[in-house]
Amino acid sequence: MATNGCEGVLKMIEELTTNAGQIQDEVLREILSRNAGTEYLRGFLHGQTEKQLFKKNVPIVSYEDLKPYIDRIANGETSDILLAEPITGSIICLIKCSSGTSGGQPKMMPVTAQVTKNCELFRRLYESPVIKHFGDINQAGKRMELMFARPEIETPSGLKAASVSTSIYNECNFRTILPKLYTSSIETIFCPDPNQGLYCQLLFGLIQRDEVVTVGSLFASTVLRGIKFLENHWQELCNDIKTGRLSDWITDLGCRNAASLVMKPNPEQADLIENICNCKSWEGIIRKLWPKARYIGCVCTGVMRQYTAELEFYCRGLPLVSTFYACSEAICGINLEPLCKPCDVSYTFLPNMAYFEFLPVENEHDESIEMKRNDEDTELVDLVNVKAGQCYELVVTTCAGLYRYKVGDLLMVSGFYNNAPQFQFVERKNVILSVDQEKTSETDISKAVTEAKALLDPLGFILTEYTSYVDTSSAPGHYVLFWEIKGKEGKHCKELDPKIMVECCSKMEVSLHYTYKIYRKRNIIAALEIRVVKQGSFEALMDYYVSKGTSFSQYKKPSCIKSEEALKILDSRVIGKFFSPKLPL
Ligand code: AMP
Repeated sequence: MATNGCEGVLKMIEELTTNAGQIQDEVLREILSRNAGTEYLRGFLHGQTEKQLFKKNVPIVSYEDLKPYIDRIANGETSDILLAEPITGSIICLIKCSSGTSGGQPKMMPVTAQVTKNCELFRRLYESPVIKHFGDINQAGKRMELMFARPEIETPSGLKAASVSTSIYNECNFRTILPKLYTSSIETIFCPDPNQGLYCQLLFGLIQRDEVVTVGSLFASTVLRGIKFLENHWQELCNDIKTGRLSDWITDLGCRNAASLVMKPNPEQADLIENICNCKSWEGIIRKLWPKARYIGCVCTGVMRQYTAELEFYCRGLPLVSTFYACSEAICGINLEPLCKPCDVSYTFLPNMAYFEFLPVENEHDESIEMKRNDEDTELVDLVNVKAGQCYELVVTTCAGLYRYKVGDLLMVSGFYNNAPQFQFVERKNVILSVDQEKTSETDISKAVTEAKALLDPLGFILTEYTSYVDTSSAPGHYVLFWEIKGKEGKHCKELDPKIMVECCSKMEVSLHYTYKIYRKRNIIAALEIRVVKQGSFEALMDYYVSKGTSFSQYKKPSCIKSEEALKILDSRVIGKFFSPKLPL
């Protein structure tokens, strides 16, 4: 495929990855020389800027350690207590919020002009391998991307705080390119009611279906949410397209105005869409509705991996492309092989985006991937010195006031591109189940679920969503898995034989790690339970988190339920409870 003008950016990737070590040193030197005078760094470096001193004196921290400084800035103190660059950048958002659903409360991070510049460069960098493989999508047509902004909040000192995605949607550049490159309008992205916004974005995407060259969202879960919404609303959408009139329940004026610009009666298009949607199986529906789409773009790794099987069903044959790995704290890596299967995706770290260090984590025993480490005793490894096959926790130092900050993500080195390491996302740290001394990671649960759900496939059922929870209301405590199951070809999950579900419980236990099994045998942990919930339960869970302030487009379903309210939402929708009948030998 021709590189269509992205050669310059691909060349930049070559240079960055070849000179990774040198660039990392420069990035750190720049950060330290600019910020050595801040109250925070002065306390450790006394105005010095040597790398060795930084490594020796600056502590490895988490958000809680920096929060007092960030709170002081939010409450009106000058930001130079933490970072030298003013946080009055050219963008609207001055402090960005992490979506926080992958581990607790939303966090606030300072944003500077440099951060914005990095974001802009990052977009060009992660898009160039995609353009290389799929052609210049920017010239070929439009993206049907589901996007949702959250209202900004104001800190006591008047600084604006918004989620990362919201601040991107607010950027002048984005607003300028939006009408040319995307089917969604800014009003639908900023609609205060995400359901009205979603309806209109699907409507606009269907109206412009012949121009659509990619379908996607930030995360796989949002794409699926869109498809499920479409399953429930396609008749109404077709009616709107046929008549050229927007449904009355869309009351948002911005959406109505935007719709009036793109809608006109189009019965032929409505009939075509109706015929496609009105079939028994929705397998490959994305491909049928958007025939020119070249790929589905969304993060499909990490927590999102559980959605890939269902997404693959809906897009049949269209590649799922995870383009980047980034977080509110720092921009990290890009996927140089967009055609790679979601389970094999690696992200090549970009050495110019932040100063990266890595805390080695070890497997404690062969049968579990329980991680063992003592932060104080472990030396951090530089980006270019990580070892293939080894797992690490990511630690970042940025131009925006984070110094040796633990992001909370565990990554595994899968190889190198030139001198830059490539990482597979392993799991979010601390997302674990534990009844006693045992620790069960997200990956442990995912592996066991994969084994167990294989029993459903031949019977015509798919596990569409799951999450976990430790029930300690009775002693001994036990693991609970909430499963939402869907029947293929119109089958109802009531037809599912209870014996199979009991077998799934058993299979999960057998697939869990050694320590779990030992504890089960000693009756330290009681039998694992699967609670089957009715269709739509996980959407209700998402609605709950969104109502609590989580960004719709950055929502990541918790792998483990910790909040009482979230638990109530799932428990009130349980239609069957099943327990493992025997000890996992
Ligand atoms: P947020 O704090 O809302 O910006 O979310 C950032 C977190 O999302 C990261 O720390 C990861 O845990 C997760 N994440 C982001 N990109 C990816 C990716 N490509 N693969 C897996 N997880 C990701």
